Amino acid sequence: MTVATSYGIPVLEQLQAQSLNTANQSDAIKLKNIRPATNGLMLNMNANPQIRIQREDNPSRLILDLQNTSLAKELHQANLPINRFGVKQVRVAQFQNSPEITRLVFDLDSNDPNSKITWKSQYIAATNTLLLSPENQVAQAIPIDSNPTSPGPTPINPPSTISSHAVIERLSFSSTGQLLIFANQPFNYQTRLDRTSGIFNVIVANAKISSNLQRPSLTANSPIERIRLSQVGSSVEIAIKTIAGWQVRETQRFTNQQIQLQVSLNSNSPFPNNQNPLPNNNPSIPNPQNTGDRRRGVIFVDAGHGGNDPGAVGNGIQEKDVVLPISLKLGQALQSMGYTVYYTRTNDVEIDLEPRVAAAERINADVFVSVHANSLAPGNSGISGVETYHSRNSTIGRELASYVHSQIISGTGANDRSVRGAGFYVIAKTSMPAILVETGYVTNPTEARNLNSPDYQKRMADAIARGIDQFMRVRGR
Ligand SMILES: [Zn+2]
Repeated sequence: MTVATSYGIPVLEQLQAQSLNTANQSDAIKLKNIRPATNGLMLNMNANPQIRIQREDNPSRLILDLQNTSLAKELHQANLPINRFGVKQVRVAQFQNSPEITRLVFDLDSNDPNSKITWKSQYIAATNTLLLSPENQVAQAIPIDSNPTSPGPTPINPPSTISSHAVIERLSFSSTGQLLIFANQPFNYQTRLDRTSGIFNVIVANAKISSNLQRPSLTANSPIERIRLSQVGSSVEIAIKTIAGWQVRETQRFTNQQIQLQVSLNSNSPFPNNQNPLPNNNPSIPNPQNTGDRRRGVIFVDAGHGGNDPGAVGNGIQEKDVVLPISLKLGQALQSMGYTVYYTRTNDVEIDLEPRVAAAERINADVFVSVHANSLAPGNSGISGVETYHSRNSTIGRELASYVHSQIISGTGANDRSVRGAGFYVIAKTSMPAILVETGYVTNPTEARNLNSPDYQKRMADAIARGIDQFMRVRGR
């Protein structure tokens, strides 16, 4: 019987250690006054705000959210009649307090073709004026409050177009592994996680996909399986599918022209985030020795059995329960040597053989090591010791097995039951150098006690790690 497969995959610290730095957000901007002008609307404010724009139908309106902007109290819920440019009136309100957002709602006359006009903004620092004007109008700001002795309006920032459509221009990964989505202008979006399919959807309203869309190539070991963009009506839908065990989450937004998504371990994965059995993965403590890159190589650690499959049983011990701590200790030892480590499982879950191999192939591991324990029929309880298996015809597998096996024998003092070729699925089907270590016999009372001892487990794990490290060094890694 099979339960849902899930791979315990290590935390890549750089994905988690991102700082949600808000310190560099600009100081609050204040909107002090707003009045109609011949060429649009003039807003008196001390700085140029970021503007998020959204066009809505029924009733037809344009919504402008001025980020980080507080509104003079007397203007809250003010109505400003316009009756030009297809705009009936503008309503003003303090939409949000933390962070502060001032909202302007342009109530449009949908019968007026001008209501389709694109608006643009221009900030004139010399007069503290933000001019909002229809695109086809000439921007000619004549602020009523201007000081006649001042040198006149000086555009400081190039005009930014506020159109009803954002163009999705680029998707890329940041150096810290976040997936970033860029558009040519501020936009609104919603996100939705479909838990059944594991697909994370970003729906950007009033948007188009650039014909020159740039997107990242997904490497074989990317936790993202695919990214699909589609135009659905006036929205762009971006569907992001992760491999099992991973998920996409939205992080705090820095600008309103960019979406920042974090790819991380699935919170529904077998181990709870706050009580994580994985070593060295406290997200708040970056581990310089496992930076997630492939410099020293990627080792796939496969703890045998799990869940409803106990594996070998003897002397009150189940194989699945002793190979897991050995595997976790092995991963820890390898990480401390600078290797990137992936696990098939980090707790007591059942996983088929096929997805174990598929996961190792997916991340393109340099070495696959499967950790098991053995048993014999009653009457053979005297037999103990370690066997290290490689795929029958694999020379490189046998080389890896030899390094690891001799380290185990010298490091643990276990009986040497030799390096052997075999056709076990996980070592036969993997394309990288692969071994399966039978770490001892649970049917032997002494060895069962050893396998159940944290000290012995650590000696076993350290020995396997040393053998893998020797193998990797000989191969120039
Ligand atoms: Zn086994």
